[in-house]
Amino acid sequence: MAVENLIIIGSGPAGMAAAIYAGRANLSPLVLTGTMVGGQPSITNEIENFPGFPDGITGAELVERVHRQAQRFGARMEYDEAAEVNFQVHPFWIKTYSAEYKAKAVIVASGASPRKLGVPGEIELIGHGVSYCGTCDGFFFRGKEIVVVGGGDSALEEALFLTRFATRVRIIHRRDQLRASYILQERARQNEKIEFIWNSVVTEIHGPHEVTAVTLKNVVTGETSMLPTEGVFIFIGHIPNSQIFRGQLDMDENGYIVTDKRTRTNIPGVFAAGEVADPIFRQNVTSAGEGARAAIEAVRWLAELEARADSYGVETAGA
Ligand code: NAP
Repeated sequence: MAVENLIIIGSGPAGMAAAIYAGRANLSPLVLTGTMVGGQPSITNEIENFPGFPDGITGAELVERVHRQAQRFGARMEYDEAAEVNFQVHPFWIKTYSAEYKAKAVIVASGASPRKLGVPGEIELIGHGVSYCGTCDGFFFRGKEIVVVGGGDSALEEALFLTRFATRVRIIHRRDQLRASYILQERARQNEKIEFIWNSVVTEIHGPHEVTAVTLKNVVTGETSMLPTEGVFIFIGHIPNSQIFRGQLDMDENGYIVTDKRTRTNIPGVFAAGEVADPIFRQNVTSAGEGARAAIEAVRWLAELEARADSYGVETAGA
């Protein structure tokens, strides 16, 4: 089995920025893309805050551009997902669903996945009215009344997008104040198709075959009510995709990988960048920045590894 210089786990903004930097450092990095190629931008309709795009850019186009840019510098893409790792050995070992790899250095940029509500009916009705992606599924709700759950930037941004299709979008939020940024709040409040249901949570999603209604509970009065709806879009935050690193990489209580200021994990030679290690900022641009930092660190670490091997007159493990 050939030993890779650097394997990057994940192909979102962090992973691809790392691939561009490592490619330009002549490392010929291998990117294991994961199942959601391009990460969260791939399911984002419009990105307005990525520097350099004053008129905005669609998520799909940004993904296509950064992938092309990384490949131009020699990054190789493997459309597969890391399923198991062993960072206790060096070279590090990574198993995907179809192959095994060895690498001298690894950048974990596996991102985060949508958080679930955890209420009856949610899982059973995914794809039948329950969705976590307006860009992907909005079209199916043309002429329908839908609800959006959440009060952050994602909920409002997606609710605004969904007004292109739905006749009415009710945003259900568990408090009476939104977490979303001011600009999105203003846009949502000015949109005639959007209505807010405050201080309320969804306690059940009803089918049986397609979504027909949700049960709402007012958290202030305790009252419950049924709201007929044909779609439930859930945007209540994310959970880091760090499960396969459990027991090997240090994590906080929410599963975010702990790094120092230089993107280093507790295992020398393993770096982490982007949403899998960032419970605070979680922006495309901050993730891309972290990916670049992780690649710069990986390049330095590999050079030191090489230098140590030379000074002892031995070959680097597996090199
Ligand atoms: P978020 O900011 O964590 O917001 C999650 C929302 O869901 C909050 O309003 C939260 O309520 C609510 N929530 C959480 N758990 C819930 C539950 N079990 N039941 C009901 N409601 C629940 O997540 P996000 O909106 O996905 O945004 C993530 C990050 O990406 C943020 O930093 C955001 O700024 C960024 N982002 C930026 C843009 C943009 O700049 N255009 C777009 C999308 C996302 P509480 O408010 O009561 O906690």
